[in-house]
Amino acid sequence: MNLLIKNGHIIDPSQGIDGVGDLVIENNRIKEISLERKGKDSAEGRASGLQGIRTIDALGLYVLPGLIDMHTHLREPGFEYKETIKTGTMAAVKGGFTSVCAMPNTNPVNDNSSVTDFIIRKAIQEGECTVYPVGAITKGQKGEELAEMGIMYAEGCVAFSDDGRPVMSSLVMRRALEYSKAFNVPIISHCEDLDLSEGGVMNEGLLSVTLGLRGVPPEAEEAMVARDIALVGLTKGRLHIAHVSTAGSVRLLREAKARGIQISAETCPHYFSITEKAVEGYNTNAKVNPPLRGQEDMDSIKKGLKDGTIDVIATDHAPHHRDEKLREFDQAPSGISGLETALSLSLRLVDEGVLTLSQLVEKMAKNPAAILGLDKGTLKPGADADITILDLNKKFMVDSGQFFSKGKNTPFEGWVLKGMPVVTICKGKVHE
Ligand SMILES: [Zn+2]
Repeated sequence: MNLLIKNGHIIDPSQGIDGVGDLVIENNRIKEISLERKGKDSAEGRASGLQGIRTIDALGLYVLPGLIDMHTHLREPGFEYKETIKTGTMAAVKGGFTSVCAMPNTNPVNDNSSVTDFIIRKAIQEGECTVYPVGAITKGQKGEELAEMGIMYAEGCVAFSDDGRPVMSSLVMRRALEYSKAFNVPIISHCEDLDLSEGGVMNEGLLSVTLGLRGVPPEAEEAMVARDIALVGLTKGRLHIAHVSTAGSVRLLREAKARGIQISAETCPHYFSITEKAVEGYNTNAKVNPPLRGQEDMDSIKKGLKDGTIDVIATDHAPHHRDEKLREFDQAPSGISGLETALSLSLRLVDEGVLTLSQLVEKMAKNPAAILGLDKGTLKPGADADITILDLNKKFMVDSGQFFSKGKNTPFEGWVLKGMPVVTICKGKVHE
């Protein structure tokens, strides 16, 4: 596929590019970017010589490296009634993502190379974008015995995580951090002290008391963030903290980074867009783990994004069947279907002046690629033609009925958002 995207505002923090120009794709790879405008000696002029070239006029639009979601639950194998690799990647592409990392809490768990192989094959056959499997740290995600990380790495896992569950044993986590150093991939930690969080279904505080729901104190997350920071100091292993939700976690990470501890962290759009108030009325679509927190936490997360303490915005896309979310609050599963709203919600941070658009691209493309060691998140010549074209002014109302994801569980139903992806190009294939 040969393609010319002309007149777009190109933003690529990996090359310090922020300006209007043309971008040429040859054989599904980036060939060149040209910020010089017109004439024969321009990208457009040279592209006219390419065979069967198609042109997209991106006048007034932004052209970004394809977004990468480090934290997606695709549910297949085992929970195809919630989502499949097909529907999950369709949702990803609609949301502007060209790569997603599939968390291992499937059935069977992705704790051995045959499951890894299944996901990779299925994604090649049916996936609309690139899928990178994340392998489990421990067998069956039980937190006891390390999985065969070396074999899974060789099969294609780009990181390891027991996400959905924490690795409660500090010794097991130590061994995982030591072992994973051999292949230089990150351990992604779901930080939750299960003893402190036991039975909890929302943030612990005045509101949980009012609603008569059992709470999870912020300290259930922070105690494990502190432990993990200590283990990075001990092992010099590579650790990435998933879904940061509290002010205390941001403070711990900021202080650790200032001391030179090598650690990275992500948060998700729901933690900087809504607070625990969304749970009022026992709204199960606002039930998520870690739970939505208070205003102070939300403000701290924004500060952490702004000052670089939080490196990545990931979705934690967690689709569930409608019937499951119709249960009582206590019984409903945790999770938000996030792929199709993540970019638009994150653009609110640009409107509020928390991030520049270029910084947002760092959090959603450049930094995830760097943390995972992927040759993605860039528009450098030679890279795969993974591109997100964004219309900053286009408004839409969130309507889960229109989601490509099987998961309709969103607390943002009916919100009017401004800014959305209009074209997503995955390895040269144009989705619009
Ligand atoms: Zn998690």
